[in-house]
Amino acid sequence: MAYEIVCGLEIHAELSTATKIWCGCANEFGGEPNTRCCPVCTGLPGALPVLNRRVVAFAVKAGLAMHCTIAPRSVMARKNYFYPDMPKAYQISQYEAPLCLGGHVDIETSAGPRRIRLTRIHIEEDAGKLLHDAYGTGTLVDLNRCGVPLIEIVSEPDLRGAEEAKAYMEAVREILEACAVSDVKMQEGSMRADVNVSIRPVGATEYGTRTEMKNLNSFRAVHRAVEAEAKRQEALLAAGKKVAQETRQWDDNRGESRGMRGKEDAQDYRYFPDPDLVPILVSESDVARIRAELPELPAERRARYIGTLGIAEADAALLTRSRAEAELFEAVLAQGVGVRAAVTWVVVELFARLNAAGRSVADLPFGGAALGRLAALVEAGKVNAGSARRILGSMMEQGGEPAALAESMGLLVVADEGGIAAAVAAALAGSPAAVADYRSGSAKSFGFLMGQAMKAAGGRADPKLLQAALREALDGPAEGKA
Ligand SMILES: [Zn+2]
Repeated sequence: MAYEIVCGLEIHAELSTATKIWCGCANEFGGEPNTRCCPVCTGLPGALPVLNRRVVAFAVKAGLAMHCTIAPRSVMARKNYFYPDMPKAYQISQYEAPLCLGGHVDIETSAGPRRIRLTRIHIEEDAGKLLHDAYGTGTLVDLNRCGVPLIEIVSEPDLRGAEEAKAYMEAVREILEACAVSDVKMQEGSMRADVNVSIRPVGATEYGTRTEMKNLNSFRAVHRAVEAEAKRQEALLAAGKKVAQETRQWDDNRGESRGMRGKEDAQDYRYFPDPDLVPILVSESDVARIRAELPELPAERRARYIGTLGIAEADAALLTRSRAEAELFEAVLAQGVGVRAAVTWVVVELFARLNAAGRSVADLPFGGAALGRLAALVEAGKVNAGSARRILGSMMEQGGEPAALAESMGLLVVADEGGIAAAVAAALAGSPAAVADYRSGSAKSFGFLMGQAMKAAGGRADPKLLQAALREALDGPAEGKA
């Protein structure tokens, strides 16, 4: 029997506010364990939380970027459970009245564009971290992350397989990055996903029993976990067994998951409105102000690149993968470089080198403007393309200004009359047979002589000037021929 995979993602993203959600502690990654916390964020008895208004503004911005409806009134709720990374034994989250409702994220898949609906986006606090193997003698608790503001972005079960799950998570990451509400550093846990997976016979309308894998923190892990879990469920069904509703732990090193516990229902958490916090009121004018602050979003930018700039879809997708890459490309364009040349220099030359070296745009010792000035030198005929590639190689190692590098590396195009004339004279003197062939009608010989002249100029002659000078030397002045 053929099965269809059905997934939904709950993406947690840490918001990059300066301070935590309920207190003035710094909202920064790392630090010595238990040095970035206070009685409020660790939830000591008697300490009272005060909501950081920037958290609401950031969450509203993310919600608007994902086309949600912003609730004028939402409520923080306590989610009760015991775990040692959360001393107060409840997490402050939102339950019945979340901040953002509905919404969608558009993704590109190999089968074309797809719209993934969102259920909601809500605000909550992060928990601390357990360190299981720092000393080998037991588990230690670091509460620095307690009270770091999070949004949880909950999708509908609209994703049909590993590729879509990964593409969706990438799209959400791009949007959050563009809005500058999260640093989206997956390796630091700033963004992670819980993935629900079920399978059903193709054509069925009812969902199968789902399992959940928590805290996947890379696109690759999401992709692999969905594939492996769907295969596991398929094998169970093929053997006449049932899929159990449970939470499973994904082990990315082993590429497999194992059962952790039966999946809890919402009622197990005994949610209730947090009596220490007043409802969050967001006015229409707040929403309008935040909407006006929204940047150009990745999908809009991609559409503009394709529609207005005439860039091919595949190149537009590469150029808009991250804000840093798009901004670099636009800085190249801002130097007056033509669109085609700018795409070539960024995608073909720069991205290929970065890929090969395992580097990213963030590590470059130069900015897009410098790359734009290099491309402009080529467009102006001051440096030829081969020389410009050598200059780019040098810039990638130690930065520098393209014009100065062209000069110091001896790569400026020879465009002065004396230099051109000398190159032509050397070519003619060195290849009398080719000159004779040309004069007896062999057009092919012109190409050969052009090559010789360019060689004599050290590969740096302005090709148009050189060609004109060579023709004139062979045929006599252009006017005389007319
Ligand atoms: Zn604190």
